[in-house]
Amino acid sequence: MSYNRFLSGRANWIKPSALSLIMSMAVELKKKGVELISLAAGDPDPNIIPRGVLGDLAMEVIKNNPLSVLYTPTNGIPDLREELSAFLNRYENIHTSPDNLVITVGGSGALDLLGRVLIDPGDIILSDNPAYINTLLAFKQLGGILEPIAVDEDGMKTYLLEEKIENILGMGRKIKFIYTIATGQNPMGVTMSLDRRRELLEIASKYDLLIVEDAAYNFMKYNDQNVPSLKSLDEDGRVIMVGTFSKVIGTGFRIGWIIAEDVILKKIIMEKQPIDFCAPTISQYISLEYLRRGFFEKYHLNALQKYKVKRDVMINALQENLENIVFTKPIAGMFIMLFLKPSID
Ligand code: PMP
Repeated sequence: MSYNRFLSGRANWIKPSALSLIMSMAVELKKKGVELISLAAGDPDPNIIPRGVLGDLAMEVIKNNPLSVLYTPTNGIPDLREELSAFLNRYENIHTSPDNLVITVGGSGALDLLGRVLIDPGDIILSDNPAYINTLLAFKQLGGILEPIAVDEDGMKTYLLEEKIENILGMGRKIKFIYTIATGQNPMGVTMSLDRRRELLEIASKYDLLIVEDAAYNFMKYNDQNVPSLKSLDEDGRVIMVGTFSKVIGTGFRIGWIIAEDVILKKIIMEKQPIDFCAPTISQYISLEYLRRGFFEKYHLNALQKYKVKRDVMINALQENLENIVFTKPIAGMFIMLFLKPSID
């Protein structure tokens, strides 16, 4: 039986992304016994994550806390939102009430929800180019039209942004928001400079646009460079921040969050309930205890040192083995972009 005729127009349109193809290639090769380190996805190193501690917390939470196997409020466990808000204050200098936080199914769930609440088919979204492929797909699937803004070593080229905005507005079209991964950009591996961060906020303010700041790699900074999050520089509530613990305690926990205001916040929660009811309860309680007992502070610095060594090993290997190839040298995040000659497959 052919099922195609039952599919929605949207589902008919969806194609596998390059990322999912590479990820399944890696799985196939591993199945065949090929030894490889897959660089396909931004997974953390499972041997750097304190799995023993997380395992003990999981055991404790599931055994002792009957609530750990039930639904939570859709916006997340109040104690976790409280703990997270204090943590974001300490770590990111962000002052947000726990009531402005929504705990989501990873950063992915957060970005999808934001898209659902903000995008009408045909709306224009200005985005880092290149940018994280799954976000772009999520926004496109909702009918968003992505207008690329090139990224260089200093992040989004803000000097191109204003011209682009003028052009689009001049054609009578509507721009909804600017999407950027300012720190440890995926896939470029670059981090937006402080000047560009300020410019971006100024431009957003001038044209009355929202900024969606994808902070997936904000906890993976290897230098003490002064690159405050956009949210911490935001004075008029223009930045909606999406965060995640994926790179800290593991992509498998599926714990992320959104910081949003007012009606956007309310609609996100309404939109979320029929989709997944709440983020995984067990993961929420484990994250809560992880923060509450100071495990982030205890393990994270050490983890960063180990990732920094890995980064340096990779950079040295590239320098030694791929002569004359230009690539980015990240001060944050997990990615290095190689610029290959067209003759190289
Ligand atoms: N944003 C960016 C830029 C990412 O690289 C990722 C993960 N690769 C995510 C969001 C989503 O991560 P998660 O859903 O695991 O929190």
